[in-house]
Amino acid sequence: MPKTGQLFEHLLTHYRGLFATLVLLPASALYSAYTSTRNLIAFRLKSAPAKHDERVQKVIRQIEDWKSNGAKEKLCTARSGWKTMSEMVPKYKLSHRKIDVGLYDILEISEQRGTVKVEPLATMGQISRDLISKGWTLAVLPELDDLTVGGLIMGFGIESSSHKYGLFQHICASFDLVTADGQCVRCSPSENADLYYLIPWSYGTLGFLVAAELRIIPARKFIRLHYQPVYSLVGYASRTFHGLDLPGTFCRAVEL
Ligand SMILES: Cc1cc2nc3c(=O)[nH]c(=O)nc-3n(C[C@H](O)[C@H](O)[C@H](O)COP(=O)(O)OP(=O)(O)OC[C@H]3O[C@@H](n4cnc5c(N)ncnc54)[C@H](O)[C@@H]3O)c2cc1C
Repeated sequence: MPKTGQLFEHLLTHYRGLFATLVLLPASALYSAYTSTRNLIAFRLKSAPAKHDERVQKVIRQIEDWKSNGAKEKLCTARSGWKTMSEMVPKYKLSHRKIDVGLYDILEISEQRGTVKVEPLATMGQISRDLISKGWTLAVLPELDDLTVGGLIMGFGIESSSHKYGLFQHICASFDLVTADGQCVRCSPSENADLYYLIPWSYGTLGFLVAAELRIIPARKFIRLHYQPVYSLVGYASRTFHGLDLPGTFCRAVEL
């Protein structure tokens, strides 16, 4: 008789389809239902774009408290590690002073300027559902609904990019940042430009992001797909690297 461990290993190896269908899929469906409900409740309870300035003042007050206590610890966001997309366990959160940057709202859509102003915990799913209902979309839209604007800008949001608009950071028209001296600084290519260009990928080292203005483009209901097979590396490179004048808005290369 095989031992329990060996039996389990045998079942996982030879009946993994069954295990995935009966255990993993229901578990992930339940977790997904739980997180969607939690996000919806958090959004409904905390949504109030008019109170944005008040929420920024709350962040500033936390920094002022830290300063008046001698600014002893390092600072980090209070967002729990399990809520982020990263697989890293952020142990530094145990020893650092946590600043609550609980800002979840979509603040303003400006069709004239072609921008949407959002708070850092607004997610891709939340923003795209709101924009698409008004006929717009982000010019670069990362695939996963749970990715936050703050995480994409301050972290490493580079997987989703566009041959027309660049990386996610390239659709950011401006940032509002609360720095360690307790000031809220607005930056854009024409205002505090040095700070503006340093913010992407800075992992929160320059301050706490409290708002960002992102470029939007009109979204049509349907798209026309054009399929262009290539059969060699040279052919692939000439289409992707030299073919930047491709007529379409979206371009996706898939290796089969
Ligand atoms: C499974 C997986 C799939 C992914 N898919 C994609 C994809 O489709 N497209 C893509 O572009 N990228 C993708 N990424 C990369 C992803 O964009 C980055 O990992 C991103 O940093 C995750 O963001 P988050 O919302 O989970 O934020 P977090 O992990 O919470 O934050 C990332 C960093 O930003 C800092 N930060 C966050 N908010 C603030 C703030 N308000 N002020 C100061 N600092 C802040 C945090 O402290 C942390 O250092 C993926 C990553 C994983 C693990």
